[in-house]
Amino acid sequence: MTFEHVLVVGAGQMGGGIAQVVAASGRRVSLYDPYPGAVERGLAAIEKSLTRLAEKGGADPAETMARVFTAAALVPADLMIEAITEEAAAKEELFRRADEVMPPAAILASNTSSIPITSLAAVTGRPERVIGMHFFNPVPVLRLVEVIRAVQTSDETAAAIVQLARDLGKEPAEARDFPGFISNRILMPFINEAAYALMEGVGDAEAIDVVAKLGFAHPMGPLALADLIGLDTCVAIMEVLQRGLGNPKYAPCPLLRQYVQAGRLGRKSGRGFYSYG
Ligand code: NAD
Repeated sequence: MTFEHVLVVGAGQMGGGIAQVVAASGRRVSLYDPYPGAVERGLAAIEKSLTRLAEKGGADPAETMARVFTAAALVPADLMIEAITEEAAAKEELFRRADEVMPPAAILASNTSSIPITSLAAVTGRPERVIGMHFFNPVPVLRLVEVIRAVQTSDETAAAIVQLARDLGKEPAEARDFPGFISNRILMPFINEAAYALMEGVGDAEAIDVVAKLGFAHPMGPLALADLIGLDTCVAIMEVLQRGLGNPKYAPCPLLRQYVQAGRLGRKSGRGFYSYG
């Protein structure tokens, strides 16, 4: 399967990045997001990122942009990659609708950080062609793609998506469909503990992050990373871990919840643990 036409749903930070790498691989991309201005913001972010890459010797941005089209609705394609808000009900509704619109042979993939792929597969009439394709932020830079098989996913679907990840220049890591998969099962408790350390005054944000950077050789500290991911997304993932694994140790730190209530969502809102100009 070559996936010549890919529908990306959700034009936020992840959907934009996914559309960019798929278009950069020579494929045609339709980008759909029903929220006013979202696709325009997504296209502007793609163009900015491509321009930065071109300055470092990357391809002509106009050539890649010419393969990204705005879709006014869900349109048929060889593959859908869903990257909408981390809400189970919204994703299930989208998979139901996509199942009606997409050709029977098409694969439906989700970029979810934590929502069970098995439950998304179950709302469609093609559960064997539903899979998790979990990219990392920023998508054009980070090479990992976690490939998550639902209970129902066929070997053919998994093999096709592993191959696609490689074609996009990524390194696939296969994970089973347990809450948070591999990456967020490890990352979210780390971020949560950093938020507790801040709340309890063990250290300020800079001190907590510098420990991870210089002490653990991480490229960025957990609080700066949480701001990059989005604090609302972090809370949503922790709630899935807590519910799915039935263990209160995964419950989001009250400080994280409070920041989300205050609209301090991280980089995307201009302020989280840090302020962004
Ligand atoms: P975001 O808030 O930047 O973007 C979400 C987009 O989805 C918005 O543009 C919104 O308008 C759109 N949207 C919401 N409901 C929709 C619907 N029903 N149909 C179509 N579009 C809809 O969020 P994001 O950070 O891009 O995250 C998107 C997904 O990717 C989530 O599932 C998240 O868990 C996952 N993810 C995020 C990261 C990260 O670092 N932020 C990393 C890996 C995976």
